[in-house]
Amino acid sequence: MKKFMRVIALLFATCLLQGQTVFAQSAASSSDSKEIDAVFPEAKTLYLDLHEHPELSSHEVQTAAKLADHLRRLAYEVTEHVGGTGVVAVMKNGVGPTVMLRTELDALPVEEKTGLPYASKVVAKDDAGHDVPVMHACGHDVHMASIVGTAAVMAGSKNTWHGTLILIGQPAEETIGGATGMVAAGLFTRFPKPDVILALHVGNGLPAGQVGVVPGVYNTNADSVKITIFGKGGHGSAPNTAIDPIVIAARTILALQTITSREVKPGEMAVVTVGYINAGTKNNIIPDHAEMGLTVRTRNPEVRKQILAAIDRITKAEAEAANAPRPPQIDHFEGADLVYNDPALAMRMKGVLQTALGKENVIMEGPITASEDFSYFVEQGIPGFYFSLGGADPEKLKESRVSGNMLPSNHSPLFAPDVDPALHTGIEAEVAILRNLLHGSSEELQKSIAQSPAATAK
Ligand SMILES: [Zn+2]
Ligand SMILES: [Zn+2]
Repeated sequence: MKKFMRVIALLFATCLLQGQTVFAQSAASSSDSKEIDAVFPEAKTLYLDLHEHPELSSHEVQTAAKLADHLRRLAYEVTEHVGGTGVVAVMKNGVGPTVMLRTELDALPVEEKTGLPYASKVVAKDDAGHDVPVMHACGHDVHMASIVGTAAVMAGSKNTWHGTLILIGQPAEETIGGATGMVAAGLFTRFPKPDVILALHVGNGLPAGQVGVVPGVYNTNADSVKITIFGKGGHGSAPNTAIDPIVIAARTILALQTITSREVKPGEMAVVTVGYINAGTKNNIIPDHAEMGLTVRTRNPEVRKQILAAIDRITKAEAEAANAPRPPQIDHFEGADLVYNDPALAMRMKGVLQTALGKENVIMEGPITASEDFSYFVEQGIPGFYFSLGGADPEKLKESRVSGNMLPSNHSPLFAPDVDPALHTGIEAEVAILRNLLHGSSEELQKSIAQSPAATAK
């Protein structure tokens, strides 16, 4: 309803300004709501289809094919299988900057419990050969539908921009590896190298209809650690004949909690979470090993090093204290560096989004504790802008803020973005940003970003 009022207000404002140069200026970076409405039904249909048919990381075969098909029909030059299932779609429209917009393709091994009519019932084999439920619990289906809607608007309004637009569908974001794979497969050499790269992420932190902007550090470094603790198996009735890895794991987990509470300097951002622990098969058997998986989030590279070293030290010492037959095995996997938003670019995009969505719908946010391999693209020397797309039902979010009961976060089996208007806003925001960036020359765009004193101060 609020959205409807805003549309009316925008139309009114547009009518008032029609025929004046001000209108031409705002139209260059903003979109007419009618053109978003025109592409919305197809984007929503794609969303519902993708939501109902999710695929696991690196297995996004049908998903990639659907995305490629939509973009090809919109006259983009589409290349598939760029770094696994990666999709690259290019539209050249005269001389000008090159801008890349990215969506992820993958879903998660989560059993959907939203009860929605289009809820996923998919079960698939994971890489270990286990049957797992699959769900778009991170909202990547919203991102894909948004990019297709945006692609349609941009293809149908080539008089509003010039330059080269590249849309990419990146596999395996959730397992951190898709971005590396696409770059290794020649993303920046086989295709025009972008002046800037963009992406959005939907979440329940903001109401649908709003977006969030963070200049500078957007999120956190992420490190995944798998620990295998070795004991000595035996009968549950005779613990004296065994060395119990479950007890060692329990002690280790509690000791790991002291890293952030006792070792890291107060005020430094740090998270150590043990996300799973697996051991044993039966109540009267002491197993011979226990496994656990950790996620570590930090912002400061020194703190990152400190925490990883502490995990290593504590895990080994607890095993030794329990007289374990051999030291634990500690493996690092799925690491990602923090996403850095070019400050000048972010502030410019803030203005563009305010014009497109209304001032009250653009929220300046602080860094969040999630992570993402979008950072890998930025680390190749390409200024990036990664922003938040509100996904929460505005009424439910209001209630949750009063009651203190948080809405389900991304990765929850209950995560269900308020897709209408979140998807509408996603398309509107992307179109506005692309139209703003895709004018002038590549040199001008690069210069406007390089002028930011903070841009080089990372
Ligand atoms: Zn995710
Ligand atoms: Zn995600």
